[in-house]
Amino acid sequence: MHVPCHATTFDHSVKQILKIMAFLRFIFLLVLLNTSITYCQENHTPHIWKGPLVITYKENNEHQCFDEDLQLHCTSWRFAVEANNLGPWKTIPKECHHHVKDYILGKGYKFDIERVSKEAGAFAASHELSADGRDIWVFDVDETLLSNLPLYYEHSFGLEHLDSRDFYKWVEKGTAPAIQASLELYQEVFKLGYRIFLLTGRNNKHRDITIENLVCAGFHHWEKLIMRNPEDRAKLATIFKSEKRNEMVEEGYRIVGNSGDQWSDLFGSSMSIRSFKLPNPIYYIP
Ligand SMILES: [Mg+2]
Repeated sequence: MHVPCHATTFDHSVKQILKIMAFLRFIFLLVLLNTSITYCQENHTPHIWKGPLVITYKENNEHQCFDEDLQLHCTSWRFAVEANNLGPWKTIPKECHHHVKDYILGKGYKFDIERVSKEAGAFAASHELSADGRDIWVFDVDETLLSNLPLYYEHSFGLEHLDSRDFYKWVEKGTAPAIQASLELYQEVFKLGYRIFLLTGRNNKHRDITIENLVCAGFHHWEKLIMRNPEDRAKLATIFKSEKRNEMVEEGYRIVGNSGDQWSDLFGSSMSIRSFKLPNPIYYIP
């Protein structure tokens, strides 16, 4: 039987069309399947989401991210220092040297100290003083009234451990500047009528130069300057300062406020009604 050539061509064309349609159907099914999976993942459908509900963060290994992580790590460390959450430490973490230096020399340290002084001043003004003149405010000296930053600038802002010989060599110069916000608080507290007690861990051998330095920096009119005597040398600051505050209370004084850069200035017995902690990420005194 003769089959016309055009019939053969027609059959061939139909087969081609069917093949193309089958291919397109396959592609359509693939797209549909992919869309369904994406939808389920995005909507966290419970029967598909098998993992625990834990927040995750995008990973980024770029240099900028590393800097940001380091910055956050050091900020976190400094927060732990100020919140007294760290155990005893001798030097700042090596990787945080630039962070601490930038904080101290930048506006952060200044703003933090100003805030402490402002809050302390507001509290001092709000407290009703007794007529007997026995309400007192206790100030620590180093890094509270006087700044030793010129010394710590030379010793990498706490990266190097500073021994007492280096410290007293500096003390004997008598050139430590006042911390401006603390000087203003000091003057305000004095004007309000508080008696001022200076309680410092400095050795009493350096009393004369300490007085000279304080006066030159603008601090006058204190009731007592209490320093460590030989029998106090081995005591932790918390013990020494607690004992001295106990004596104040035994003498009939009421400790209304206490300002210090170390928790050991503030904790212990005979604590003040309000304590004000100044920042200090450079060194730790137990
Ligand atoms: Mg101090």
